Amino acid sequence: MKKTKNALVILAGGIGRRFNKKIPKQFNEINGKNLIEFFLSRIDTNNFDLILIVVKKNHQKYIKNLKYNFPLIKFIYTEPGKSRQLSSLNAIKKLNKYKPKNILIHDAARPFCSNKLITKILKQLDKNYSAIPYVISPDRKVILKKEFNKNLKLIQTPQGFNFKTIFKSHANSKISNAKDDSELISQEQLNFIKGEKLNIKITYPEDLNYFKIFLKPIYKSGIGYDIHRIDTNTKKGLKLCGVKIDFNKLIGHSDADVGIHAICDSIFGALSMKDIGYYFPNKDIKWKNKNSEHFLKFAKIKLKEKKFFIANLDINFICEKPNINKYRKKMISKISDILKIPEKIISIKATSNEKIGFIGDGHGIAAESIVQITNEKLY
Ligand code: ZN
Repeated sequence: MKKTKNALVILAGGIGRRFNKKIPKQFNEINGKNLIEFFLSRIDTNNFDLILIVVKKNHQKYIKNLKYNFPLIKFIYTEPGKSRQLSSLNAIKKLNKYKPKNILIHDAARPFCSNKLITKILKQLDKNYSAIPYVISPDRKVILKKEFNKNLKLIQTPQGFNFKTIFKSHANSKISNAKDDSELISQEQLNFIKGEKLNIKITYPEDLNYFKIFLKPIYKSGIGYDIHRIDTNTKKGLKLCGVKIDFNKLIGHSDADVGIHAICDSIFGALSMKDIGYYFPNKDIKWKNKNSEHFLKFAKIKLKEKKFFIANLDINFICEKPNINKYRKKMISKISDILKIPEKIISIKATSNEKIGFIGDGHGIAAESIVQITNEKLY
């Protein structure tokens, strides 16, 4: 058997009474990741040969994705004990056969621990029996008795230990309700190192708000382009971005609103979907002369389903006529109304084709659209 150098233990056996939710806090999902997955995705798991998760059998279902999301890691599991100390002991006993040199014991409820702190702890274990992170609270502390201690240390996890040291300390312990593992080792073996203020423990539901600091919003972009031929046999009936314009209409299966078609395709693109023709084929009689607002409303529903918001929308018309500028405000207001987005994030511009080619000869109108979408709630 390959000798294990570093093992990581994640204690996830708690039920979190103060959290007051049906699912224990460590299994709550934020952006599709529970607290354990969130923690593991932020650290360099290559530092560990083995990760042991202490979890109740009936809670294993919440972490069944771990082995798929982190295929290179060897995960093992063990049942929690009656107290945190006994859970830790179960983990240590289970790890004994792998003979790790070092062990880091972490609480699943501290998902924000950085990789930097882990590296620091591991480095400290080269020369020390332990590495126990702490922070000093700047808040005023009031203790009713006299022994007020200005240097009160707030102890964190993960706590690093030489495996043999912590194994012996657990085995010889006369108590079974230690708040953490550092409480069990001797004063001489204690090595405190500076922890991280942001390595907070999720205790109450409102603590989930801390995730906002760590979760960077996702931004995605999409591009759309459309062109339709001008029907020279008509004098009116043109519709661009849902606004009726006194000009020759465009030829198309639906109402041939190039503006809306380009916007739809840009949104579909940003959502990694297919093009508008896939969802509304021009062979389908259902969409004959259809008001294109319907297609844009479909795009809006898809945005909502995938939990994205439009950050900005930029539309460009390419045509010789009509004068788009005259209808800009109306178009912006119409698109804002259909998509329920603020007018200030919509831009409508136009350019002529300098009398060059098909568009320059006045045979058609084209539109392009670029959209940026985000999962951050903007409005
Ligand atoms: Zn079209």
